[in-house]
Amino acid sequence: MTIAAHTLGCKLNFAETSDTLRRLEAEGNTIVDWGRPADLYLINTCTVTAVAEKKCRAAIRQAHRLNPDAQIVVMGCFAQVAADEIARMPGVTQVLGNDSKRLLSYSAENPSAGSSARTRTFFKIQDGCDYFCTYCAIPYARGRSRSATVEETLCVARRIAAGGAREVVLTGVNTGTFGQQHGESLLDLLRGLDSIDGILRYRISSIEPNLLTDDIIDFVARSRAFLPHFHIPLQAGSDHVLRLMHRRYDTALYRDKLLRIKAAMPDACIAADIMAGFNGESEEEFRKVMDYVDSLPISYLHVFTYSDRPGTAALRLGEKVPVPVRREHTARLLELSERKHRAFVDSQIGKTRPVLWEGWKVLPTTHYPLPTEMYGWTDNYIRVSRPYDPSCVNRVESVTLSPAIIVRESL
Ligand code: SF4
Repeated sequence: MTIAAHTLGCKLNFAETSDTLRRLEAEGNTIVDWGRPADLYLINTCTVTAVAEKKCRAAIRQAHRLNPDAQIVVMGCFAQVAADEIARMPGVTQVLGNDSKRLLSYSAENPSAGSSARTRTFFKIQDGCDYFCTYCAIPYARGRSRSATVEETLCVARRIAAGGAREVVLTGVNTGTFGQQHGESLLDLLRGLDSIDGILRYRISSIEPNLLTDDIIDFVARSRAFLPHFHIPLQAGSDHVLRLMHRRYDTALYRDKLLRIKAAMPDACIAADIMAGFNGESEEEFRKVMDYVDSLPISYLHVFTYSDRPGTAALRLGEKVPVPVRREHTARLLELSERKHRAFVDSQIGKTRPVLWEGWKVLPTTHYPLPTEMYGWTDNYIRVSRPYDPSCVNRVESVTLSPAIIVRESL
């Protein structure tokens, strides 16, 4: 059977899709690129915003157009919260909720693009969330927080190491809650992972600021393999809006965490999620947000535009921001992100950083436009290029950063 897959949403979804494809391929199926005729289309969906849901519906319609006789299997968060609606769409043969997925899964980032499965691997260590932030439907879609034990997780990590992975990205819905159900902690896991031979680099894909303890920051700073790259959701830069969102920190705590990271790792890359246009975000509040974000050592932002999620508490909270204003706030945050990212990258010029060279044969796609070049990431997440040399693939090399080798792209 030929199978094509399409993934929307977070790194966790990408990890789960790739893991599923790896299994299906091992069972004798052929994986083809999305957009080609296939016998089965697998669509891993997201419910984080109304735009994400629209893209999910569009992907289902596209699959049905590509082959009206194909089976269409829809999985993921939108499938969980809107199973009936999806099941009624033409061509859909199966809707799988998140319970159908495995807890511990790992996978190459993008095997269908021909990237070396051994270069960078996503490893899901945790699923679900108990936080119930007022704007978020994910706890309804993915259920309560859960994870395997440290020892079980380390067993899987040793298998990943034996497969030759060089860099592992730890993913989860609320990664910082890893281990809580077993009386263990994320830090226990990080210590164990750091001592596994063979894996050269780890990144933590995202961690809530209140769960990023000082001990974790200090551990990352002195660890063998954890990289100076953090992704810490901020969501709002005003205490009033953070309270409406039921986030578990305030702007002072967030600032403290970032300053501690920068004191321990001055070249660290710090990414932040931020939401534009949440209820109660007046023009005055928004100006505070811009000033606050601008004052922080953030390297770039992931900007989301608020949209009502059915069933969430935010539907009844605070004053709604008109949609055109939400869009305008989004655009201003994106501009700020570009500016901060340029400043961060410029601050690294002339420094020597370790780069893991990725990929093997580089294909001419949007992400890899030049077939004669290869790409890699520094430890602090700056994308660089060099002429293609097969002996560099999957190797870490010290590189002095210059404008000529930096690939400037929006993150
Ligand atoms: S921490 Fe908040 S935003 Fe993140 S998944 Fe849990 S409820 Fe959603």
